[in-house]
Amino acid sequence: MVTDLTSKWYKGNLHTHTTNSDGDASPSHVAEWYRSNGYDFLCISDHNHLTILNDSNQKKWPLLIPGEEVTSAAGKTPVHVNGYGINELVKPSVSNDVVTALSENVQRIVSAGGLASINHPNYKWAFGYSQLAKVSGYRFIEVYNGHHLSNSEGDLERPSVSNIWDQLLTRGKKILGLAVDDSHNYHEIGPDLSNPGRGWIQVQVNQLSKNSILQAMSQGNYYASTGVELGELVLNKKQIRLEIDESATKQPNEKRDNHQSNFITSFIGVNGTVLHVEKGVSSKYIPSKKDLYIRCEILNSKTGQKLWTQPFWME
Ligand SMILES: [Zn+2]
Ligand SMILES: [Zn+2]
Repeated sequence: MVTDLTSKWYKGNLHTHTTNSDGDASPSHVAEWYRSNGYDFLCISDHNHLTILNDSNQKKWPLLIPGEEVTSAAGKTPVHVNGYGINELVKPSVSNDVVTALSENVQRIVSAGGLASINHPNYKWAFGYSQLAKVSGYRFIEVYNGHHLSNSEGDLERPSVSNIWDQLLTRGKKILGLAVDDSHNYHEIGPDLSNPGRGWIQVQVNQLSKNSILQAMSQGNYYASTGVELGELVLNKKQIRLEIDESATKQPNEKRDNHQSNFITSFIGVNGTVLHVEKGVSSKYIPSKKDLYIRCEILNSKTGQKLWTQPFWME
């Protein structure tokens, strides 16, 4: 993937709830929130409900990507799979086995013309690498989910979702990483609430349309973020180069002390091994033929905000 000067980054959130499931605001209120906060596209992914907005207010909304959080459980284990770009409502699978429930939900999303994403594996510590390795047909995993109970970062005993992602990539699964809000609460803000604006993706396309966004997502022409933004991104066999867009990364209430040394870029390979680390707004890594894949994570050490590029496969 190379930044193409004719194309642009478009910001979107892919995981949102409304009063059509357990969110606390109407679909149009939610869509307006995202539009007025600078989002170009949005997927309203209500639990087992395909929310379609069809009225004359479309100018107040971002581009809407049809979707659903196909929601089931294997016993007490939650099994939630998002379907993006589906043509019809997908009925969740009922199975007592996590792998079967995941596989069937993924399959049903694909049959409905959608792209499947494995949601928040660490929510209630539902499942991990060993189960996900047995499931096929999904394209994405949520490396970051903004729900306050999602445990995206893992804990002392259990791996983060990016660790699970590296395990899957190391075993040859071509999975891409998403950052999403999983927003439910639009009226009150707090660390114990699921508020909008926490995780998003920036997709590179020439023109904003449902098909262009879904295609670029499927091809990995995007990055995931919780607050760090890129200007330039070059991913090829000769070099991987990133340039942080400092002005876009700055918080509205942040003073001009967003010193560039706050940014730490890690180039990550097989088994999550850190191949190279650089500080500052620009960083570069020269891949070796031994690298199976390389992906980058950027941390703003001052704010804790992060960015994840998609893996670049050397073969
Ligand atoms: Zn969920
Ligand atoms: Zn959700």
